[in-house]
Amino acid sequence: LAQLYIPLNMLGTIYRSINQTLVDTEKLLKLLGEPTDVNDKPNAPDLVVQDGTIEFENVSFSYDERVPALSNISFKVPKGSSVALVGESGAGKSTILRLLYRFYDLKEGDGRILIDGQDIRDVTQASLRKAIGVVPQDSVLFNASISYNIGYGKFGASAEEIEAAAKAAQMHERIMSFPDGYETKVGERGVRLSGGEKQRVAIARTLLKNPPVLLLDEATSALDTATEKDIQNALQHLVQGRSSLSIAHRLSVRPLATSFWAIYTITDGDWTQTIASADLILVLKDGQIAEQGTHAELLALGGVFANMWAAQVQGLEDAASSHSHQKEAV
Ligand code: ATP
Repeated sequence: LAQLYIPLNMLGTIYRSINQTLVDTEKLLKLLGEPTDVNDKPNAPDLVVQDGTIEFENVSFSYDERVPALSNISFKVPKGSSVALVGESGAGKSTILRLLYRFYDLKEGDGRILIDGQDIRDVTQASLRKAIGVVPQDSVLFNASISYNIGYGKFGASAEEIEAAAKAAQMHERIMSFPDGYETKVGERGVRLSGGEKQRVAIARTLLKNPPVLLLDEATSALDTATEKDIQNALQHLVQGRSSLSIAHRLSVRPLATSFWAIYTITDGDWTQTIASADLILVLKDGQIAEQGTHAELLALGGVFANMWAAQVQGLEDAASSHSHQKEAV
């Protein structure tokens, strides 16, 4: 009986783990507010990732047939390189990420999205999503321990692996400052983490997942300088050697409400790093690529990007001068 019990018991554990993962994935998708009705083709093979090269080939997409969200988008993210998406609100940045994650399928004739030469519509969603790490703007944490929230990135991760990921994500010291350390409960029924801390937990989780492809949605909210620095350091670890697509929101909003932290960070060159160090910047406008190139090339072009950049810098300078006037008046 004991001989039977052990394997049965193991099966029970495995079943619970799988069931838990499915429940969590569904919960995550529900929280992201995305539809999950994309279906795999019968007998679809798994995605085989060689180096994680991403290609958008003449991609067009609309949520509502009357309003195109993306029109004829083509670009390539070669192995291990970084692409930053910039553009006004509604330009189509998030849609590009959603399509790559296959929240929606492209219709026949509306182009193709390829990873290492394989059309993502032809492979299983599970294998595609295994290859992609996502760090969203507002990271979702489960009502569970920090250890569970990080370890979720890799089935069966050891305590040492979880700690190493937290260290690389600049979160270890913060975690150790809680009385229960890694066993501290977070979420609605536990410790409330700040936006920047939640994002670092998500980065640690993604480091453990170790995906060849990364989708990063930069936080729009203002973060203090120290947090900003920690996140940039954590992201640097994460993007190393992976193909990444990042949304740089902060170039699309004028930072009128910014205060002194922003001036400090821009002179420090911290958050601007995502954009300035990207191998390629795509400037989107009304669902089309208006300009593309490196930071230096786009500034030299003197077009849409150069104007957005100038507006951003001007906004920061205005904020700086009003801050110093306020200080003088005191
Ligand atoms: P933001 O910087 O504000 O996040 P974005 O550049 O990421 O904007 P998208 O979210 O990709 O823009 O939106 C592109 C277009 O698609 C917009 O016109 C938007 O209104 C529309 N759109 C986005 N999501 C949906 C949706 N779920 N249903 C219908 N239309 C949508």
